[in-house]
Parts: sequence; structure tokens; C-alpha cells
Amino acid sequence: MLANLKKILQMQEIDMKMIRLMRVKKQRKNELEQIESLRSELSEQLVTKQKDIKELNSTINTYEQKIDETKAKIKKLDEQQNNVKKVDEFNALTKEMTSAERERIATEHQVSDLVDKRNSEEEIYAKIKESLKNSEESSANLKTEIISNINLINEEGSTLKIERDKIAEETEPDLLHIYERLLRNKKDRVVVAIVNRSCSGCHIALTAQHENIVRKGENLVFCEHCSRIHYWQESEALEGTEVATKRRRRRSVTT
Ligand SMILES: [Zn+2]
Repeated sequence: MLANLKKILQMQEIDMKMIRLMRVKKQRKNELEQIESLRSELSEQLVTKQKDIKELNSTINTYEQKIDETKAKIKKLDEQQNNVKKVDEFNALTKEMTSAERERIATEHQVSDLVDKRNSEEEIYAKIKESLKNSEESSANLKTEIISNINLINEEGSTLKIERDKIAEETEPDLLHIYERLLRNKKDRVVVAIVNRSCSGCHIALTAQHENIVRKGENLVFCEHCSRIHYWQESEALEGTEVATKRRRRRSVTT
């Protein structure tokens, strides 16, 4: 029983390392995603601004054409006026010219406002472009660093996986199955020592009877509160594992 538990304890240490690695990897992947999303956001903004500027330019063009047309109209009315003899016709043309002139001025104001707007949009466009360039430069290094970090994690993970597979082969399948199911649930150590007559997983106090059964090491004993598997830290059968107490290890060296 305990020999098998010893294998599981070795495996558990590998699994804890694996869990830590996977957490770091996830974190790094998130960082990478953040960099990408910032960049795509800026790219989108850039495209939108470009479209806005294009639309403004086309509106400005239309208004400028309107101004030219109005100017031509005024010129024509002016020529007409030079040829009229009657006062009321002259006055009617003056009225028409004044109204056309008013229209021209109004349109020019509109164009001037639109040009101001376009200029400020162009400034914003340049700023977005600049920050996109900056973010691309600064994120390139970070991205390389994160990717190489992830590669290292993958390598370390593969090494751990080989080590784990080897132990798994040597472990009793039923026990392995129980351990793996518990690990999936808790994502934490599931084979734990009894410390001060308490479960070191959930820290709830245990009975002396429970402790005695665990001490004997004949059966698999589960914590009745958290379902973790208990072991006795000073058990000789666990000698040599990372979990054996320092005292025990020291004693085993001197004897
Ligand atoms: Zn417990």
C-alpha cells in the first residue's frame, strides 16, 4: 500500500510543478493576447479615421463645386444687369445677386468648418498611427520574450510528462485512477500528511482512531471532510520522498 502511495507522492510533486507551469503559461498567453488586442484596436481606429477623413474631403469637394456654381451664377446675373434698361428688372437682378452672394458666403462658412474638422481628424489620425508604430516596436520585444518563455514552459512540461508517465507505469492503476480524479477536482495536493492530528489539506481536526489507521499504513484512508488521501509523514515506507519529515530523513542518514 505505502509503496504505491510513495509513487503517487512523487507523481504529485510533478503534477504540482505542472499545474504551476500551466498557470504561468496561461498568464503569458493572456499578456500576448492583450498586446494583440491593443494593436488590432488601434488598427481599427486608424481605418475608421481614414474613412471619416475621406468622407469629409468628399463633402468639402461638393461644397466647393457649389461655391463655384454660385460664383458663376452671380457673374452671369451681373452681365445680365449691365444690359437691362428697366429699373424694376435691375432691382430684381440685384435681389437675386444678393441672395446668391448670401448663399455663397454661407457655403464658404460650411467649407471652412469642415476643413477645420478634417484637419483635426488628420491630427488624430497621425497620433493613432504614431502610437500604433510605438506599440508595434515596444511589443515586438515583449512578444519575443513571452513566446520564448512559453517554449521553455512547453519543454519543461514535456520533461515532466516523461517523468510522470514513467511513474504512472509503475503505479497501481486503481490508486492512480483515484488520485487523478481527486487531482482533477482539487487542482491541488490531494495526498496529504496528518499534522498535529489535523488534515493538512483542509486543516480540520481528526480523531485519534483515524490517525492510528493512517499510521498503520495498511489501507488507503481518506479525509472524511475533504476526501483527500492521508499518509503518515514519519512512515518508514515513505523514506526518500520529498514529503518525509526532515527529522526522519536526518535520522535515516545517521543510522
Ligand atoms: Zn481534509
